[in-house]
Amino acid sequence: FPSRPMTPVQDQDKRKKIGIMTSGGDAPGMNGAVRAVVRMSIAKGCIPYAIYEGYEGLVKGGDKIKRMHWEDVRGWLSEGGTLIGTARCAEFRERWGRLAGAKNLILNGIDALIVCGGDGSLTGADRFRAEWPGLLDELIEKGEITAEMCDGHRELNIVGMVGSIDNDMTGTDATIGCYSSLTRICQAVDFIDSTAYSHSRAFVVEVMGRHCGWLALMAGVACGADFVFIPEKPPVEGWEDEMCDIIKKHRALGKRKTIVIVAEGAIDRNLNEIKATYVKDVLCEKLKLDTRITTLGHVQRGGTACAYDRMLATLQGVEAVEAVLSAQPGDESPVITITENKIGRVPLMSAVKQTQAGAECIKKKDFDGAMRLRDREFEEYYTAYMSTTKIDDPVDKVAEDKRMKIAIVHVGAPAGGMNAATRAAATYCLSRGHRPFAIHNGFPGLVRHDSVRELDWITVDAWAIRGGSEIGTNRSLPSEDMGMVAWYFQKYKFDGLLIIGGFEAFHALSELYHARASYPAFRIPMTCLPATISNNVPGTEFSLGSDTCLNSLIDYCDAIKQSASASRRRVFVVECQGGRSGYVATMAGLSIGALAVYTPEDGINLATLQKDIAHLRESFANDRGMNRAGKLILRNERASKTYTTDIIANIIREEAQGRFEARTAVPGHVQQGGNPSPMDRVRAVRLALKCIQFMEENHVQFVEEGKEAGKGCLDRPDTATVIGIKGASVVFTGVGKLHDETDWEDRRPRRGFWRELKDIADTLGGRNGVPTGM
Ligand code: ATP
Repeated sequence: FPSRPMTPVQDQDKRKKIGIMTSGGDAPGMNGAVRAVVRMSIAKGCIPYAIYEGYEGLVKGGDKIKRMHWEDVRGWLSEGGTLIGTARCAEFRERWGRLAGAKNLILNGIDALIVCGGDGSLTGADRFRAEWPGLLDELIEKGEITAEMCDGHRELNIVGMVGSIDNDMTGTDATIGCYSSLTRICQAVDFIDSTAYSHSRAFVVEVMGRHCGWLALMAGVACGADFVFIPEKPPVEGWEDEMCDIIKKHRALGKRKTIVIVAEGAIDRNLNEIKATYVKDVLCEKLKLDTRITTLGHVQRGGTACAYDRMLATLQGVEAVEAVLSAQPGDESPVITITENKIGRVPLMSAVKQTQAGAECIKKKDFDGAMRLRDREFEEYYTAYMSTTKIDDPVDKVAEDKRMKIAIVHVGAPAGGMNAATRAAATYCLSRGHRPFAIHNGFPGLVRHDSVRELDWITVDAWAIRGGSEIGTNRSLPSEDMGMVAWYFQKYKFDGLLIIGGFEAFHALSELYHARASYPAFRIPMTCLPATISNNVPGTEFSLGSDTCLNSLIDYCDAIKQSASASRRRVFVVECQGGRSGYVATMAGLSIGALAVYTPEDGINLATLQKDIAHLRESFANDRGMNRAGKLILRNERASKTYTTDIIANIIREEAQGRFEARTAVPGHVQQGGNPSPMDRVRAVRLALKCIQFMEENHVQFVEEGKEAGKGCLDRPDTATVIGIKGASVVFTGVGKLHDETDWEDRRPRRGFWRELKDIADTLGGRNGVPTGM
C-alpha cells in the first residue's frame, strides 16, 4: 500500500483543527478510520475533533463536537460499528441545517472535515463545501459569527472515505466494511452448507445489496454457490429454466446440496424484483427440491472488522489526514480509494456521479453499461463465477487442437485458498475443454508414487471453502530428482503447469525453468500462484493464505487483549509466524494497534527495548478512567536469536519494577487458519483463472506458430512466471527477472513492499516519539 511522501508536522502556533465523522449506514472498520485520523492528526501537530452522530451532530453542535485525545481511541480497532455514532439527518439536506453546521464548525475553529460514509454522505459533504463561503457570509450578516472568526477559514476542506458494507462506490475496489460483511455472510453460508448437505436440501440465501450485487456475487464465488442473482446482471429471459438446468447438472453429478444467493435488490431484465420466495417456489416445483430460505439481515452489518477492513481503514485514515494537509486552494475534494493494493485519491464528485450513473443505467435497462461502470474486478469475478458453476457449455470450449493437459501441484506449507484456487483452475479448465490433473503430495508424490489424478467437477466442487490442501502439499523441490520429474511430465504429456504455494513453489518454478535446457518436458507454460501465510514470494504483494492468517491472528490477539485489559496492568508479547519476513507481524500490528512490532528485517537490540519499555511506562501512566484496553507487542518468530519472546517478557517484567507485568502468548499453527477467509477464497478464484488463461494464450501461440506444444518456451523466459498483485495491477513476472529481486538466503523479496507500513504502525502505536499525552 505505498503512500506518497508525508507532509511536514504542523507549526504549533497554527495548529489545524480537523473534524472526523461517520455518516450513513454503519460499517465495520469505521472505528479504525476514526482512530487513524485522530492519531495521525495528533502526530502531524493538528487537533482532531470527533463529530458525533454524523450530520446530526454537526447541525446540533455543543457537546456533539468533541476534541479527541490520543488515549480516547485506544482499543477502537477491535470494536464493531461506529463509536462516534451515525445517523440519517434530514436537517442537513436543508440549507438552514447546513448553516447551523457551518456555524458550529467556525465556533470550534474547524475548517477541515473528513467524512466516512456512503455516496449520500459524500454528496452532502461536497455540497456543504461548495456553499461554505456563502454560508459564512450569511452567518456574518445575521450577526451569528464575526468576520474575524472566519479569518483563515474561508475554505472548507473536505476529504471523503467510503464506509459501506455494500462496496457500491465506483472508483475504489473496496469500501471500508465490505470484506467484514462478506465474512459474516460466508460464515453463515458455510454453516448452512453442512445442514444442506445432510438433508440434501436447497437453500436460498438473501443478502444485502439494494443496488449493488458485490456481496452476493462475492459470496457466490467464495462459497461455491450454484446460482446468484445480482442487480447489475439480471438473468436472461426464462432464467428459471437456466437456473434449474445448472442445478440439475450439479445434482446429476452427485451434488447433495444447493445454494442460491439472491441480492436484496435482484431484478430481472424487465426490472421486476426477483424475490427469494419466488426462487424457492421455482426450485420446489420444477426440481422438487426441499428448499428453505435464509434471510441474513442485520447480522451482515455487525461484529468486529476483519483484518483487511482494519488495514484499509487505518491506511485510508492516514491518507485522509495527508490529503487535508496537502490540499491547495481550489483543489477538488478527494475521496480516498484502493485499487488492488494501492491507496489513492480520486475527485470525490466524479466517483459519486459514476456510482449514481451505474444506478441510472440499471433503471434504463442498460445492464452492460452498469457492468462497465463497476470496477474492473467485478466483471472478472462474474466471469470467473460463471465458469465454475456452468458445466459443459459448448459456447465456452476452445477448439480441439488448442485443448491442453494441465498439471496442478501444491508446494510448501498449507495456506488458506490453495483448495479454492485448485477448484477454480480445474473447473475453468473443464469449462474450456482442457484436462486438469492433480499431482498429489508435491514433487515427491510424483517421483515416488506416480500420484497423478485427473480432476473432475464433482471432486473439486466441495473444495471452495476448505482449508489445508486437499491434494496434499510437500516442501521438497524438483531438484531432488529432476530426471524423474521430467520423465513423468513426458509420460503425461502435460502442456502447462500451475504451482500453488509459497517460497518453495517459487523456488521450484525457478528450478524447472532453468532445467528447460536439459529437459524438453519443461518447455511448457508454467506459472506459480503464491500461497503462503508469510507473504514472502517475490513478484507479488499478496499471497493466498496471508489474509486468513491475519484474521486468525487478530482474533487471537483480540482475545488476549481482552485478558490484558481485564487485569489492567499487563502487556502481552505475542510471537507470530512469518519465517524471515516481518509481513505478518507488521500487518497484524497495524490491525490490532500493537505498541511495538519486532521483525527480522529490523531485528531487536537493547536500545530498542529500552525505548519501548519507556514508551510502555508512559502508556500505562496515560491510561485514564475506563479506557484501559490491553497492550500487545508482536514479535516475529525469527526477529532475533538472542531476544526471544520469553526473554523480552522477562526484561519488561524486571524493568517495570512492579508497575506492570508481562506475559507471553504463542498462537503457533492457529495462524494457518481453519476455513480460508473470503478474501483468500475470492482472490484464489480470480488469480487461478488468470493463470490458466495465461497458459492458454501461450499455448495458442505455439500452436499457431506450428511448434510442437511447448517447444517455443526455451527462448521465451516470460512463459515461466509468478502471478502477483503489485501496486494497482495484477501482473505476471518472468521468474528469470525475479531472480535478482530475491534474497535467497532469507527466503523473501529483497525489499518487502510493506516495510514503509511499519512506520505507520509505529506512529499510530505511539512509538515514533509522538506526544501521546495529547
Ligand atoms: P449508505 O450507503 O449506508 O446508505 P449514505 O451515506 O449513502 O450511506 P444517506 O442516507 O444517503 O447514506 O446519506 C447520509 C446522510 O448524508 C443523510 O442523512 C443526509 O444528512 C446527508 N446527505 C445525503 N445526501 C445529501 C444531499 N444531497 N445534500 C445534503 N446532505 C445529504
